[in-house]
Amino acid sequence: MSVSNEAVGSVRKVVTAIPGPKSQAMHDRRHKVVSKGVSQGLPIYIDKADGAILLDIDGNRILDLGSGIAVTSIGHAVPEVAKAISDQANDFLHTCFMVTPYESYIEVCELLAELTPGDHAKTSALFNSGAEAVENAIKISRHATGRQAVVVFDHAYHGRTNLTMALTAKNMPYKDKFGPFAPEIYRVPMSYPFHDGLGGKEAAERALRMVEAQVGANNVAAIIIEPIQGEGGFIVPAEGFLPALSEWCKSNGAVFIADEIQSGFCRTGDWFASNHEGVVPDMVTTAKGLAGGMPLAAVTGRADLMNAVHEGGLGGTYGGNPVAAAAAVAVIKFMKSQNLPAKARHIGEVVTKHLSDLQKEVRTIGEVRGRGAMIAIELVEPGTKNPNAGAAKAIVKYCNEQGVIALSCGTYGNVIRLLPPLVITDEQLADGLSVLGDAIRAAQ
Ligand SMILES: *Cc1c(COP(=O)(O)O)cnc(C)c1O
Repeated sequence: MSVSNEAVGSVRKVVTAIPGPKSQAMHDRRHKVVSKGVSQGLPIYIDKADGAILLDIDGNRILDLGSGIAVTSIGHAVPEVAKAISDQANDFLHTCFMVTPYESYIEVCELLAELTPGDHAKTSALFNSGAEAVENAIKISRHATGRQAVVVFDHAYHGRTNLTMALTAKNMPYKDKFGPFAPEIYRVPMSYPFHDGLGGKEAAERALRMVEAQVGANNVAAIIIEPIQGEGGFIVPAEGFLPALSEWCKSNGAVFIADEIQSGFCRTGDWFASNHEGVVPDMVTTAKGLAGGMPLAAVTGRADLMNAVHEGGLGGTYGGNPVAAAAAVAVIKFMKSQNLPAKARHIGEVVTKHLSDLQKEVRTIGEVRGRGAMIAIELVEPGTKNPNAGAAKAIVKYCNEQGVIALSCGTYGNVIRLLPPLVITDEQLADGLSVLGDAIRAAQ
């Protein structure tokens, strides 16, 4: 593989305190003009990046196990993608697809039709962010079914706009004092095997009985679910849960929407997490990994649903922007040529083995779970299943000080999630896991 930013190198190296003096000065400057509402996990300011390494303005080489929250799955500074972006930027930046169209938008939709689960007729619409895609999936579902109710799950995360805040479960920091929220959203229990001990079918029954009793099957426009929950704690539902929900939607005329914004595009060792149990959603939302860092999102679904909307009912000034679309085409080509689903499976094996071994000696690890390169540990008070957010915080801090980006998540803030770029080398991964292991032992 060629590299674009050779100066970055491939080895983690911390040369100053984290954050270093230049980053600290930049952070002071930031506080004067950037809203406090937008916060940072790790306030080091980035100069360049390559593969799985970020180079900050103090010269620290940081190992990235977060991929900007599951976005740079192809790694940083991939030359083919950079070239596609610069070529398109030289040709034209924007026309607005609703005014005068261009080919790359169609190419992205062709690739989405090819790669998303199921071989039925599909069409797509492109947007700028995951939240916008989710909003539109709900709009289309309501329009196509003539119904209003939307069913969501405990621990769900679907975004920060008004409708998607209503869909998102966690109050702090996403929702607190930002209401009133959009109506006709109904939350039911998620399948969470570590805590509920239920099989997938039982857990689905519990949720669906509640929907039937409290909402009424005939009022449900859509059920929306992340096949593996992201921000909510990398919760993997028990086998059988997703197929049962999908079946119920089929029988009851509701739209089954898989929010694959975090789990999609090779992350879980397959193109989409829904494939694991052969679930074919009526609609899929994608973003994050789709364009490798350019803002692009999509709703892809059954053509009859997607085309039910009146002409002009969907769109947006920038949705499917030419530069973002050109990037997505290059990203997907790269994912195919490098067989990134296989890379994600390999990462999953290495990480799961390492963390499961660690679990035997560390009593704060309640569970190791996830799939492919989307693996997490849930931290508990030793001997219980009670959340241990303190340990998660200490682990992230330790990793950061050693120049490793690790992210926490979970409704109770007690989950450490790993989302490395899928191009991470075995040496880099071993290095990151060794730091993480030290951090977990130190936080006991
Ligand atoms: C990140 C995320 C979103 C929101 O995407 P944005 O691009 O931040 O608006 C929605 N759903 C899931 C599952 C996500 O992980």
